[in-house]
Amino acid sequence: MTTHSPKPDPSSAFDIDLHHKYLHNRRTKIVATIGPSCSSPAQLRALVSGGLDVARINFSHGTAEDHVKTIRLIRKIAGQLKKNVAILGDLCGPKIRVGEFANGSIVLKENTTVFITTKPVIGSESLIPSQYKNLVHEVVPGHSILLDDGNLELKVIRKNKDKVEAKVIHGGILKDHKGMNLPNTKLGVAALTAKDKDDVLYCIKAEVDYVALSFVRRAGDITNLKSWLARNGSEIPVIAKIEMPEALENIHAIMGLADGIMVARGDLGVELPAKKVPIIQNKLIQIANAMNKPVIVATQMLESMIEHSRPTRAEVTDVAGACLACADAVMLSGETAVGKYPLETFETMDSILRETEAYQFFSQGGGFGKNHRDCANGLLGAIGEATAQLSRDLMVHSIFVLTVSGYTARIVSSDRPAAPIMALTQSQTVARRMQLFWGVYPRLVKKAMTTHDYLIYGERIIKEHHLAKEGDFVIMISGLADIGAKATAIMVHKVG
Ligand code: PEP
Repeated sequence: MTTHSPKPDPSSAFDIDLHHKYLHNRRTKIVATIGPSCSSPAQLRALVSGGLDVARINFSHGTAEDHVKTIRLIRKIAGQLKKNVAILGDLCGPKIRVGEFANGSIVLKENTTVFITTKPVIGSESLIPSQYKNLVHEVVPGHSILLDDGNLELKVIRKNKDKVEAKVIHGGILKDHKGMNLPNTKLGVAALTAKDKDDVLYCIKAEVDYVALSFVRRAGDITNLKSWLARNGSEIPVIAKIEMPEALENIHAIMGLADGIMVARGDLGVELPAKKVPIIQNKLIQIANAMNKPVIVATQMLESMIEHSRPTRAEVTDVAGACLACADAVMLSGETAVGKYPLETFETMDSILRETEAYQFFSQGGGFGKNHRDCANGLLGAIGEATAQLSRDLMVHSIFVLTVSGYTARIVSSDRPAAPIMALTQSQTVARRMQLFWGVYPRLVKKAMTTHDYLIYGERIIKEHHLAKEGDFVIMISGLADIGAKATAIMVHKVG
């Protein structure tokens, strides 16, 4: 139950209350990448029963056939545990990589010259193969070529027909298949590659709930993926991974077409100086909130837990920061996929979020602040804002929403109301998709409801789950069957 007895006392604005209560429902959602470290039935069961909201399947690694098997296993376990878990299929995109070297790696020495070729050869200390065919054509003398997540840097000196000559600025060891980023170069390659198109077909077959598109640069990239989905009879929502500088220039158009975004800080912090990532992250969260789109903050959130059972203080602060900045979800990558402590990492993230949200809630007199969306959101936007205001003013304990597509739940979530949002839908798919939305807890219902049914149902769920006690207020939002689907109603209901 959300036990809150807010005491707004302006004189205590600078007090630090370390002994506040906890909220029953964690509002910020957790996305965990599934990989060899957590894909056994027992580990998946532990993650799902521990409150996993979204399972990310990374198509950059492994085979599509194996991914389909993993997705089916997650669905089976979620069904047994009566939980909704969304599946996010994350496409590889046009990730540029170096090829292979005779001994598996080379050492690049500072101030020496190396050549980069697009021919399929085995590399050496002075020759780096790359599979990116347009490389020679697109780079220009003076451009940077970053290798291995930006740990090594080359500067282009000149180029000829099939080779680029570059000076080593920051040297080190370069291993087979490490990533290559071209931060100054306008790439001609499409975000949706031939491999991605194949993988999308597997995503459709496995009925994933979201598809994430990597290296998005413009709105047309989203259109291409949506057209490919539509041509194959699917409307799976698309998450745009924001990791390229060009995407920032086109962010409003991208956000307008995408169904959500991921702040993909790994590549973003290589394509741009890492010092720019915090401001970009917060700006992207604000824009997504304002446009009612879910936003996931990703990569290196608890990175040190790949090797250690405890996070660094800086990582804990990073997770709390994303939560305070109003992200819908935070993501674990290598930590759960290949780390030594996948379950401990998940529990750590859960507990940081719970601690932060409880402090946020109680220190603000029972609430989570306000969405700064512009006013052009029409009726539903007004309903969302009014609901959030009512939830704070009346110390509401639960908000019920009847939703067909999940959109009403999304709008209500965008305004960050004080109470958890119980989203009732007749669609299993919609129920899973809503797992990504901040503060939304989906429930499947069998049929359309009249006002009378809705009140009875609400009271039953409140009692069963101890969501409120007699005399508490709950809000019930709907386009109810008996008042006509076009009329939206907000009911404030006193329990009992
Ligand atoms: C990232 O770059 O932060 C990211 C999430 O992308 P990926 O892990 O797919 O490279």
